[in-house]
Amino acid sequence: MLNYRNGLADMPSYDVVERPWEIKINANECNMSLPPLVEERVMNRLGTVAFNRYPNEQYDDLRDQIARNFSMQRENVLIGSGSSEIIEKLFYCFGGSPEAKIVYPQPSFSMYKIYAKAAEATGVPVDLNPEDYSLDIDKFIQTVNEEKATLAVICNPNNPTGNAFTVEEIEKIASNIDCAFLVDEAYMEFYGQTAVRLLAKYPNMIIARTFSKAYGLASCRVGYMLADEKIVEMIDKSYMPYHMNVLSLVTADICYQMRQEFVPHIQIMISERKRMQEELKKLPGVKVFPSETNFILVHYDKAQELNALFESKGIGVRHFGDAPGLKDCLRISMGRREENDIWYSYFKAFTEGRA
Ligand SMILES: *Cc1c(COP(=O)(O)O)cnc(C)c1O
Repeated sequence: MLNYRNGLADMPSYDVVERPWEIKINANECNMSLPPLVEERVMNRLGTVAFNRYPNEQYDDLRDQIARNFSMQRENVLIGSGSSEIIEKLFYCFGGSPEAKIVYPQPSFSMYKIYAKAAEATGVPVDLNPEDYSLDIDKFIQTVNEEKATLAVICNPNNPTGNAFTVEEIEKIASNIDCAFLVDEAYMEFYGQTAVRLLAKYPNMIIARTFSKAYGLASCRVGYMLADEKIVEMIDKSYMPYHMNVLSLVTADICYQMRQEFVPHIQIMISERKRMQEELKKLPGVKVFPSETNFILVHYDKAQELNALFESKGIGVRHFGDAPGLKDCLRISMGRREENDIWYSYFKAFTEGRA
């Protein structure tokens, strides 16, 4: 008998169709490798790693470096295996029973719902406005307070819709709720605005960031959170000792030191997004949502057929099936310019009945 824990059999899996795509634009990864100067430094650094030791110093070095950048202390920074691990731990730490309510917008990052379930908490989605995915801030605040939520989550800019909320809107939420408040800033580098300055004023706030998107380091699984040291201390209890491996730590450390080198990459991704938004707007029947990220969400009546065409051409985009608020939508991550030209040519041909 395999007696798994309660609820595990009913847990949904992260439902991304993966295969060796010719053009992989389904996971909002950066479609360029590391800047050559950074790669060289990383390779040299990896050659000096002490493989026989637990990575204590390297963990604190990365925390210190991140803390310095925000004029904070090491105690305000926690590193995770991607911000996914951090988010999962936050849900775990503020969850634990069905009475623990975790409020997040919908549609948003699909994992919030799954982490809430995994944490045995109750996920409470607040629907975004179906027209433009804007958030009714008052409704969100009211839900958090009425549900006596233990954790409120905003993804800013929001995945998969692409739109962003202003720091003023984030502050309005922070100042009207009194539970833990996570702002998931996975795409912040493409938006340029952050709620970090609010941390000093609202000690219940937590910011999560990742190296997976703008830094193109998805393979290493590194993310971090910034928060009051009391929160960091509590969340840290949910981690295994030495939970980060040294290869990821030293790689992220160098990428962070050399983050100026990534600015041109980020600018390329932003300009490609702008270019493709304009191109997509020319296609009949295609609704292009505003985006402050490295991806574009479109609504198209024949999204499912178009997705099948893309798949047949080896192009992987994200289709959401019947997920709430995302019917007939596709999320397309920005590839390199030549990749974008290819998927666009199929999209255009499809709308013209030529494919
Ligand atoms: C990609 C993403 C993350 C986490 O990515 P990691 O690779 O685990 O750091 C977190 N939140 C959102 C909204 C994302 O899109």
